[in-house]
Amino acid sequence: MNEYGLWIAGRQVRTGRVETVTTPYDGAPFAAIHLAGGKELEAAVQAAARAKPVMRSLTAAARSDILYRAYHLLLERKDLFAQTISSESGKPLREALLETERAALTILFSAEEAHRLAGEVVPMDAAAAGAGRMAMTVREPVGVIAAITPFNFPLNLSLHKIAPAIAAGNSVVHKPATSTPISAILLARLFHEAGLPEGALNVVAGHGSEVGDPLVEDPRVAMVTFTGSAEVGLRIRQRAGLKRVTLELGNNSALIVHHDADVEECAARAVPGAFAHSGQVCISIQRILVHRDIAVPFTDLFLRKTQSLKIGHPLDPATQVSSLITHSEAARAERWIRFAEAGGARLLAGGNRTGATIQPTVLADVAPEADLWRNEAFAPVACFRTYETLDEAVSLMNASPYGLQAGIFTRSLDAAFEAALQAKVGGFLINDVPQYRLDHMPYGGVKLSGIGREGPKYAVEEMTEPKLISWRWKP
Ligand code: NAP
Repeated sequence: MNEYGLWIAGRQVRTGRVETVTTPYDGAPFAAIHLAGGKELEAAVQAAARAKPVMRSLTAAARSDILYRAYHLLLERKDLFAQTISSESGKPLREALLETERAALTILFSAEEAHRLAGEVVPMDAAAAGAGRMAMTVREPVGVIAAITPFNFPLNLSLHKIAPAIAAGNSVVHKPATSTPISAILLARLFHEAGLPEGALNVVAGHGSEVGDPLVEDPRVAMVTFTGSAEVGLRIRQRAGLKRVTLELGNNSALIVHHDADVEECAARAVPGAFAHSGQVCISIQRILVHRDIAVPFTDLFLRKTQSLKIGHPLDPATQVSSLITHSEAARAERWIRFAEAGGARLLAGGNRTGATIQPTVLADVAPEADLWRNEAFAPVACFRTYETLDEAVSLMNASPYGLQAGIFTRSLDAAFEAALQAKVGGFLINDVPQYRLDHMPYGGVKLSGIGREGPKYAVEEMTEPKLISWRWKP
């Protein structure tokens, strides 16, 4: 079993407080990680603050070159990263490989954004009082960024923060999820090899309840970029004061299957859209609103495809569904299923738990007040409900505290745009599942799903301050 230190100021740091990282499917020890305390957090923030002027002085070409080198290194080490993600998070290997390829693209898009980062010319004489003046904006890095990331996409979601931060000339203190710290350490080493200056990326593995608040409140940190649960996101927002904050939080995605949908294509997309990574994807399909005219054929097809999914060890290349991140999360999801049944829901498939693994589960007629309908399940559970009119479907879709992404399958342009324009979400997918994301899309939510947008172009904007420079040439 390999042992990993933290990564601070371009070096590995061992703290002596060691925790075992296990594979959630069977609890097998995978690696050991040294955990940060107050001393290491201080060292990491200090290192990032020292690297701030160094990063600021790098040319866009130099920042982009580092990112291009990191992109190539990650592709060379694709298998190592995929196996690491799979072992620490329980994600099926085939999905972990996809995550690694997407992560490389996130670096590539960020390298391109470093080249494009620019301000604008301001037409000062649009106001009579601006005669004889012109102005421009330049985009300056905010400085030290705290990046706090979840377990479910430990590599790609970390890179959605780290790569744009580097593109924009910032330095970073990264706090990965305690259950998935190894890919973060490997990534920091990779950036070091790619030529990133010492201290520009520091990784403090450690429990959020211990290192979270002091990191968020540190006055040297200019911005907090967080992906995770709404509960922790709200806490961060309350503690961050005037710092810039972006929050990428949860969802309980709805998919509308209209009466004129291509039922076969929709079911083929919706099953992985609901059950990939055991539903532990922030945009996993959780609520399926199906028109009553096609409810029977669509549900039958969905159930058949669900029941053919292969459940197993994440490192088995054939596995399509593996465990949840912990036993307690699986037990919580199982409780939600039982409560939904007690409230009148019909169990159509799955519903059983073995250890941390929940069978892909389908329920119909879940009561609107049940947790499984209202809140984020973050488990392999899809809840069906039928509707008669599009208005009814749209209002069911919007009856959620969350608003990240939603979607519709229909052949009607009118129905598609009606739903798209009424949807209270950050992204709406027509003839696709809400679980669809490309890494250069603007991505983020409304309501409890958060504030701000990711995708390198948009993250780079959030990670820079526009400064105005005005020039008066006719005194
Ligand atoms: P989480 O429990 O909120 O944890 C996320 C991160 O926050 C972890 O690194 C965690 O550290 C840390 N943390 C915990 N308490 C903290 C505190 N008081 N201050 C600062 N940081 C703290 O979320 P998760 O269970 O890892 O991930 C699942 C959630 O993420 C779901 O709600 C999902 O929808 C959301 N998510 C959203 C997106 C998106 O793009 N919108 C993408 C992926 C996931 P520890 O691990 O040490 O607790």
